[in-house]
Amino acid sequence: MSRTVRSRLAVMSIVVVLLPVSTLLAQVRREIRIPDIMGYKTLKCDFHMHTVFSDGQVWPTVRVDEAWREGLDAISITDHIEYQPHKADIPTNHNRPYEIALPRARERGILLVRGTEITRSTPPGHFNALFIKDVEPMDTKDLLDCMAAADKQGGFILWNHPGWKPDRKGWFDIHTTIYEKKYLRGIEVVNGRSYYPEAHEWALEKNLTFFGNTDMHAPATRMETTSEDHRPMTLVFATSQTIPALKDAIVAGRTAVWFEDKVIGREEYLEALFEAAISISDIKREQKAAQFTIRNESDLAVQLQRTGNVGPRELALPANAAARIRVAVDGKKKPVELSYVATNFLVGPDKGLPVDFVIAGRYKIEVEVELPDK
Ligand SMILES: [Zn+2]
Ligand SMILES: [Zn+2]
Repeated sequence: MSRTVRSRLAVMSIVVVLLPVSTLLAQVRREIRIPDIMGYKTLKCDFHMHTVFSDGQVWPTVRVDEAWREGLDAISITDHIEYQPHKADIPTNHNRPYEIALPRARERGILLVRGTEITRSTPPGHFNALFIKDVEPMDTKDLLDCMAAADKQGGFILWNHPGWKPDRKGWFDIHTTIYEKKYLRGIEVVNGRSYYPEAHEWALEKNLTFFGNTDMHAPATRMETTSEDHRPMTLVFATSQTIPALKDAIVAGRTAVWFEDKVIGREEYLEALFEAAISISDIKREQKAAQFTIRNESDLAVQLQRTGNVGPRELALPANAAARIRVAVDGKKKPVELSYVATNFLVGPDKGLPVDFVIAGRYKIEVEVELPDK
């Protein structure tokens, strides 16, 4: 075989191997491993994103493909009603992004929530209306008229990026008004790369539903979702993967936020997520030591800091990992109690979730998660 023929063959085999692989990569959906809790299905959702129909850079179907690839279960395309920089090329038609994306969402098995972004200068700021039926009646000058139109359609309104303008942020009278009228029922504790501790506080105080959304305008460049690199998302605990069940869960406040290496939300849901993800097994009790394996069966990394006297001072349990722990004990029979705080499970600003593990004597296994006093 001459050198030319051989190198041509080599080139051909590279082409043959690479083409199908790159085609496959574009088609892969990376499933996210977050456990179902309390009898509910955990849906991975993003309820804030833009397309060319407002100031985004992609066609509506692209948002569905991106979400499918990144392992999401539900999205909402929320183009601005009042701001359309591309309107010379794309005519104003508030309902089109949803209509265009819907067939693709059905094909992909992604729930598509009809939504829009109500856009006012700060304060009051921006709000998303989800589960609406028609955006047109919401195209009004007065904010209260707009929200009333959304409410009349059964819409759910959340406050977007409440800390976006640091010099003008805060809870103003207008927020009290829309809260008291029961228009405002949710809040973005996370938007894109930002976490807002004050929004976290308001969500707890005023019983608002927690949201963590991307607010993406550019095309998603992430080809694969991992525990370390994923979009911020709203975890919704729903009875099933349907629009009515999704809405029921959001109205009832059954959500949490997965943001970077943090899980943010109400104690009851964070506790249930922790309990479902973390298990203790392979307990070995000896006269002077107890050994056990602590396992994290989820994509949620866990960082533990000791609050009691027993066990390692700090314990990092990456996603889908296990650690073998050995602690000194006095005899075989007494249960061993380990008290920790999961510092990256935020039940309040700068407040982690307290957790206890009880390693029973005589090989019995029991895991307990303790809630602090309310
Ligand atoms: Zn906005
Ligand atoms: Zn937006």
